[in-house]
Amino acid sequence: MTMPRIHNFSAGPAVLPEPVLKQVQQDVWDIAGSGIGIMEHSHRGKVFDKVIGEAEADIRSLANIPDNYRVLFLQGGATQQFAMIPMNLLAAGQTADYLVTGVWSEKAVKEAKKFGATHVAATGEANAFTSIPSSASIHYSDAPAYVHMTTNNTIYGTQWRGEPTVPTGAPLVADASSDIFSRPIDVSKYGIIYAGAQKNLGPSGVVLVIIRDDLIGRAPTGIATMLQYRTHAKDGSLHNTPPTMGIYVMGQVIKWIQAGGGLEAMAARNAAKAALLYDTIDASTFYRGTAEAASRSLMNVCFRGPNEELEAQFCTEASKQGLSGLKGHRSAGGMRASIYNACPRESVEALVTFMQDFERSHG
Ligand SMILES: *Cc1c(COP(=O)(O)O)cnc(C)c1O
Repeated sequence: MTMPRIHNFSAGPAVLPEPVLKQVQQDVWDIAGSGIGIMEHSHRGKVFDKVIGEAEADIRSLANIPDNYRVLFLQGGATQQFAMIPMNLLAAGQTADYLVTGVWSEKAVKEAKKFGATHVAATGEANAFTSIPSSASIHYSDAPAYVHMTTNNTIYGTQWRGEPTVPTGAPLVADASSDIFSRPIDVSKYGIIYAGAQKNLGPSGVVLVIIRDDLIGRAPTGIATMLQYRTHAKDGSLHNTPPTMGIYVMGQVIKWIQAGGGLEAMAARNAAKAALLYDTIDASTFYRGTAEAASRSLMNVCFRGPNEELEAQFCTEASKQGLSGLKGHRSAGGMRASIYNACPRESVEALVTFMQDFERSHG
């Protein structure tokens, strides 16, 4: 395993911490001296019991999760949560409110419409999703079943700085796929927090769901067993064969965050990395940041060049120099550097140097 690695700015699946990858290499061959690799262990055996038990305990202590919340490891990605949330929480005659801040929240509300009434309480569509709605622009329906938000908008590079105020009694449901555990989080402000693993937590194939007890049993029992939160809460995420490898890697990533000082320290490192890029963009007349300054994401830094031709050239030359995954999403254009928790500061520094060199030779 001596092949050099390059700088990976992919939006997801994304870079994983090197110490975790090294541990995974060993444990794929033989975990805990069992003579069997992690992928080959029964999900009902002692070895995996310890893996999932530790993963849950570590997540609980990392995010200070109150006792009246359950931690679930599910499948189907964040996208399946777009359906499970209304299926479980949106009763007949109720309305679910959505804060629409980009492509992923648009998809979430579109899916919810299949199951009941929805209301868009705020949308950033008019300004091309370049900012997070102000609290004055949010208009909730009467007594919504829940309020859904996307904490970080992976495609447009915007991020909520804090939780919006929601009507009393309405659970706040958050898609935190692209910024979970990138900063401290007050779980008690949420009814549900969910995140596909492949940006900040591990490999694709597992989705983390943190759900308040009182929301677990609301679904009609007539819906598919696998799509009821109560099934997974009752069986401790072991109703059927769970994504064992994904849960194991997620557990290792959580241990790595803890070893690095926890969420406060992670937030400080993330802010410093993002500042390197935003300062470079702001100091330049060649690059232009697309998100409004107050809404800028610390995870996905989106920027444009002078024209599309130079943008294409930027991405081609960057990848020749070992800087990969910088092309913006097709619906946003331009460039996007995804600098999640596991993206090393050295990668961001290499990108800054490349950006300055490219500007000098093409500006
Ligand atoms: C990537 C992403 C998704 C989609 O996740 P899947 O696991 O592919 O379903 C949903 N929401 C956000 C905010 C994302 O970044």
